[in-house]
Amino acid sequence: MILVIVEHLQGKLNKMSLEALSAAASIGKEMNHPVEALLIGSGVAAMSSEIPAAKLHVVEHPLLEKYTADGYSAALKQVIAKLNPWLVLLPHTYQVRDFAPKLAAGLGKAFVSDGTGYKVENGELQIVRQLFAGKVACDVAFGGASPFFASVQAGAFRGAEAAAAATIEKIEVTLDASQIRNVPEDWFQEAKRTVDLGSAEWIVSVGRGIKEPQNIDMVKQLCEVMGAELAASRPICDAGWLPMERQIGSSGQTVAPKLYLALGISGAIQHLVGMKGSRCVVAVNKDANAPIFEVSDYGVVGNLFEVVPALIEEFKKAKG
Ligand SMILES: Cc1cc2nc3c(=O)[nH]c(=O)nc-3n(C[C@H](O)[C@H](O)[C@H](O)COP(=O)(O)OP(=O)(O)OC[C@H]3O[C@@H](n4cnc5c(N)ncnc54)[C@H](O)[C@@H]3O)c2cc1C
Repeated sequence: MILVIVEHLQGKLNKMSLEALSAAASIGKEMNHPVEALLIGSGVAAMSSEIPAAKLHVVEHPLLEKYTADGYSAALKQVIAKLNPWLVLLPHTYQVRDFAPKLAAGLGKAFVSDGTGYKVENGELQIVRQLFAGKVACDVAFGGASPFFASVQAGAFRGAEAAAAATIEKIEVTLDASQIRNVPEDWFQEAKRTVDLGSAEWIVSVGRGIKEPQNIDMVKQLCEVMGAELAASRPICDAGWLPMERQIGSSGQTVAPKLYLALGISGAIQHLVGMKGSRCVVAVNKDANAPIFEVSDYGVVGNLFEVVPALIEEFKKAKG
């Protein structure tokens, strides 16, 4: 059986859980394993109407009301011993990164994190994951006996449609406050976004190829003349050259505009997951081997400092 641990925050399902469920459905179909889901927390059963699984296990305990790595791993250890799944599959969220290594290591197992796909070779499951910031893809097989533990990267699988779980089973766990060393504080409140890149039809996105913050002005001019929204890769936002809300990728926004123009962006997997759903991708990069060209409909191998001014001129002319 494949057990998918579903994540939620303040009564809301994390959509990445639906992606993990669809990854599990695909692996399960190919390898002949049923898929079951698990909800853990306190007062969480209401979310069962959104979890498309033949069987949903619900683990509730007052000490699980607020997430803690200690509480989750202590409870999940008991659940896994009881259900004995073949594979435990999780969405690769910050929370999963926090508790899953502890859970797997506590059971003497490895945790294969951040999978972008999977393969079945000679009846054996392999998780495809990236190394060296996406420059190398490797296939990781599990050693030893099951249960195996793996997580899937945001956007790597299309999310399953939300639907009600067919059957629900409650599982009792024994927890004691002394087992929980973490003291959770209030949830971090993200600042309200002022730009809605999700609904932009055209996006011009800028990467490290822009070299200096003042060069972004040229890209802003292009956006203005095109009527496009400005976005960026992570290093640009990390450096404070543009606000975080303009970052595209696994730790930024996911967008699917009609046009995505990538300027000086290499195309690391963490960036691609945020924009590969765009209808038309145009990339400008001076390196013909940049991975961004693999997802591009049109590519310009060239210097963006020549291409962008030329584009501004052409758009101005076209507008008359
Ligand atoms: C956990 C994690 C989460 C991450 N999340 C994100 C995320 O959400 N979004 C994201 O973008 N990244 C994310 N990253 C970072 C990601 O791995 C890459 O490091 C990042 O996307 C690279 O940004 P870049 O393409 O702008 O820079 P680089 O990789 O440095 O690429 C710059 C590109 O510009 C080209 N170039 C240089 N000069 C010119 C020129 N004059 N004209 C044309 N082209 C030129 C170069 O050939 C190169 O391809 C994450 C990484 C980790 C580990």
